Amino acid sequence: MYYTVFGDDMKETIYTIPVNEAFDEKCGCPVCRMYNALEKIEIERISGAAMMEPDVRMETNKSGFCKDHFAKLCELGKALPTALMLESHLDHIKKYFEYIPPKKKVNMMASKLRMLNNDCYVCGRVRQFFACELDALFLMLKEEDFKKKFDEAEYFCLPHLELLVTYAPSYLKKKECKEFLKKLLDKEKAYFEKLHTDVGDFCKTFDHRFSESDFPNSKGSTARAISAIIGDRE
Ligand SMILES: [Zn+2]
Ligand SMILES: [Zn+2]
Repeated sequence: MYYTVFGDDMKETIYTIPVNEAFDEKCGCPVCRMYNALEKIEIERISGAAMMEPDVRMETNKSGFCKDHFAKLCELGKALPTALMLESHLDHIKKYFEYIPPKKKVNMMASKLRMLNNDCYVCGRVRQFFACELDALFLMLKEEDFKKKFDEAEYFCLPHLELLVTYAPSYLKKKECKEFLKKLLDKEKAYFEKLHTDVGDFCKTFDHRFSESDFPNSKGSTARAISAIIGDRE
């Protein structure tokens, strides 16, 4: 167990540090920052020496990468390690074409291909560590200092709001959970109301009836609204 709770005492671990760091900054969704930091570590790891390690290669042969992560790998990785990884991944893929299934087993073949198409080595690792950090986050919410930091976050994007709402009942007691959701939804309400106003003002900048008006908060409002709706992926 990476994170231990002895009564009310909590131990700082490799998962509590990045969570704390993500919440140090007040602007934007801190859970996006947690995710983006993990993704950055994994991309740097895999586009470096790790790609040549036999046990990593075994995993990448099997899983491959999604569209986003292939693109990042091509952008950041070195040409030869990327090509060597692709060479052995293609060798793995070739095995899928060797067996022609009877009609009653075609579904099985389709589901294997679906798994291959939906798998990604980087996504898999990020998902695994992200779950550990999320677990740490909820345990850290029992500490007053962190709770204060959590409350100071500007907003949570909708995908991460969904995660927090999904996991809150399994980590928090009834009263804590209600209080947590109330604060969370109040924050979201205030932020999304502001976005609504700012985007509305941006629309008005195209309207000749408001040609004399100044809407300073409308600048960048569409990008801010999209980030809040879908998350702030780097
Ligand atoms: Zn987010
Ligand atoms: Zn991926």
